[in-house]
Amino acid sequence: MTEDAQERLAALAQAFGDRAQWHVPLARYAGAGIGGPAELLIIAQRREELLEAVRLAQAANVQWRVFGGLTNILLPDSGLRGVIILNHTRHIDYLEETYCVVAESGAIIAKMAQETVRRGWGGLTWAVGLPGTVGGAVVNNAGAFGGEISQTLIAAEVFNPESGVEVVEPDWFAFAYRRSRLKGSGVPWIVVSATFQLTPRDPAALAAKAVEYTERRQRTQPPGKTLGSTFKNPPGDYAGRLIEAAGLKGARCGGCYVSEKHANFFINDGTGTAADYCALIRLVQAEVERQFGIYLEPEIEIIEPSAVSHQQSAISSQPEDYT
Ligand SMILES: Cc1cc2nc3c(=O)[nH]c(=O)nc-3n(C[C@H](O)[C@H](O)[C@H](O)COP(=O)(O)OP(=O)(O)OC[C@H]3O[C@@H](n4cnc5c(N)ncnc54)[C@H](O)[C@@H]3O)c2cc1C
Repeated sequence: MTEDAQERLAALAQAFGDRAQWHVPLARYAGAGIGGPAELLIIAQRREELLEAVRLAQAANVQWRVFGGLTNILLPDSGLRGVIILNHTRHIDYLEETYCVVAESGAIIAKMAQETVRRGWGGLTWAVGLPGTVGGAVVNNAGAFGGEISQTLIAAEVFNPESGVEVVEPDWFAFAYRRSRLKGSGVPWIVVSATFQLTPRDPAALAAKAVEYTERRQRTQPPGKTLGSTFKNPPGDYAGRLIEAAGLKGARCGGCYVSEKHANFFINDGTGTAADYCALIRLVQAEVERQFGIYLEPEIEIIEPSAVSHQQSAISSQPEDYT
């Protein structure tokens, strides 16, 4: 980074005072427990902080990126340059008269879904065990058990530092299977809030479904530091089945290993690094391709070392359904 950029970054840090921290290890916030330091980390707890952080970073012409729960992204061991904004804007309104939920994008989606179940509002029950934030779920068009975000989203506020906040309809996102136009695309838009239209349902029936989905996750998914499913399912098959059939359950690279419970989940034993995770990805890809002639495409988003900004987009590929 040039001296000039360094000065702009310092000015931005000053504007945020205590809420800006230098060289904080991102591993402590990441689902996989992996990730080197953010050059400048800002944790935005209020909507205005979120917008201001992006606005100032853009105006200062320094790289920036917004993350939610970091549950679907592999961060490099070397860390990330520029401004990393962790979105902790958690406010949610439940509109009794219309059965609409309006959530700030940093809201924890599982908590929101649990509350809708408690109220007997149907449409988000599938998300009761989904890690991450509302914003991450919209960007990824997250889904499970036959449901996905795009089914109930009716509007969202998006923000671009050049043009400001806009209210958009779902079509704007160009949703596809676990994708949207914002997924790894490098466009400088962020999701600020999302509105979901739900439907009144029998609370007891919703609660029973929620229990069923939670138990299913507990039965099939391992606990621990993980990013969930590593690869997307190839057409007509399951990545987990192929990895298991290749004899790779338990395969290990350094501190990361293939879960015995769900072969598409890689676990960091606490000592793992991004290099280990990537080595395991390559090992599994090579072995599955050798044995079955099928190339497994990563579903998680992998950020290359020294890439960070919305301009220097991460590598990403289409996610699979986790159910
Ligand atoms: C154990 C486990 C189980 C999982 N199960 C499922 C599942 O059943 N279904 C499923 O779909 N996924 C699943 N996932 C993956 C993950 O939970 C989802 O993709 C989730 O929606 C990611 O949200 P996040 O807030 O963690 O996003 P992050 O990982 O923080 O970010 C993901 C992407 O979204 C961008 N982003 C985040 N917030 C914003 C915002 N406000 N504005 C603009 N861009 C933003 C980031 O820059 C990044 O590109 C699972 C993960 C784990 C660890």
